[in-house]
Amino acid sequence: MARTASIFIVLASALAACTTPDAAVASPTPSASATPRQRLEIREISADRTWIRLQDADVFLEADMEPGEVTDVVDVIDDDVFAVEEIFGFEFPVRPRVLLYRTSERLRAGQPSLPAGLVDIAAAIAFSNENKMVVVLDRVRKTKPLTVVRHELVHLMLYQVSGGGRSIPIWFHEGAARLYEETVAEFAPTARIEMALAASRAAAGRLPAPGDLDTSAEWQAATNAAARGGSSGQLDPYAVAAQYARLFRDDVGGDAGLRRLYEFMRLNYTFSQAFNKVTGRITFDIARDAAAKVRALVELPGAMVELDDGKPTLFVYGLPPDVEVSVSISAPGTRPLVGGGPAGPAGVFVAALPAETPSPLTVRVTGPGVSFEVVAKQSR
Ligand SMILES: [Zn+2]
Repeated sequence: MARTASIFIVLASALAACTTPDAAVASPTPSASATPRQRLEIREISADRTWIRLQDADVFLEADMEPGEVTDVVDVIDDDVFAVEEIFGFEFPVRPRVLLYRTSERLRAGQPSLPAGLVDIAAAIAFSNENKMVVVLDRVRKTKPLTVVRHELVHLMLYQVSGGGRSIPIWFHEGAARLYEETVAEFAPTARIEMALAASRAAAGRLPAPGDLDTSAEWQAATNAAARGGSSGQLDPYAVAAQYARLFRDDVGGDAGLRRLYEFMRLNYTFSQAFNKVTGRITFDIARDAAAKVRALVELPGAMVELDDGKPTLFVYGLPPDVEVSVSISAPGTRPLVGGGPAGPAGVFVAALPAETPSPLTVRVTGPGVSFEVVAKQSR
């Protein structure tokens, strides 16, 4: 994408002015790729807030922030707005507003209605009904890979194209937001891990069905359960929903099919009606045999070495759930490493590896009802 001119900076006179720029603009616009992006630079001096006007979004800074210190994050936002418009095939009907806060404490003070638990952990939060997103600078700068802004922008876009999002099942809302994080190249290892873990969990018979993730209340219950379960072999619902969104995308004919679906939703068709218009069918394919389809996404059992949080990590998946396994890994010219532990409820054994682990590795797994050997390559 062409990054042409410098940032478009407006120092707005008051917070009130910041809350309503262009909010009423809702007419359809041509495809984002049809016109090169331009940024103009306008400066108006004011004591209060700085407003950075991007081509298709507005970014607002805290009173004591200088535009020069947020260039990195503003560039991410600009790229992500453009990327989401490319994905959907049209520009945001209403320009997203992005409010930057230095820290969680600043966010808490600035948005007192937000639940404390959310403020404590969030790098970015979408307020879809206000067409607004908040970004916490010190958190988002630590987020690697940085996909959360794109995720939240997808929520804003889905809300806008569907007239409030009510007809969209949560598994698609969250699943599409997660799936489109994969358009950030550095997300690929996470995507591979999640797909393998979801397939493993499906094989273990412990995958929530799409119908269990239809409503906000169901989603909340699922995320709470995942948080209670800790990280060992657990799988957060986002990773499950991403696979359902992936299968749904295949079902409607790929990205082009999804774009047609979004176009129908912009014409006030519900999610189900739009699906029917695109495919001529009434029932989503994934509503039937969802677990079998997720299971088939990955060859089981298997093993992979991926960088998880920057550290090489061995994932062995497709194991019988909750059995104890012993695992030995070896590579030509090195001494084998032997370890073991529980496969967990999802049938996944996870182990951190030394930083200089060679690749490819031969992984030998044994346990009750388990005996196999696979070659795992570390992807970069
Ligand atoms: Zn989300």
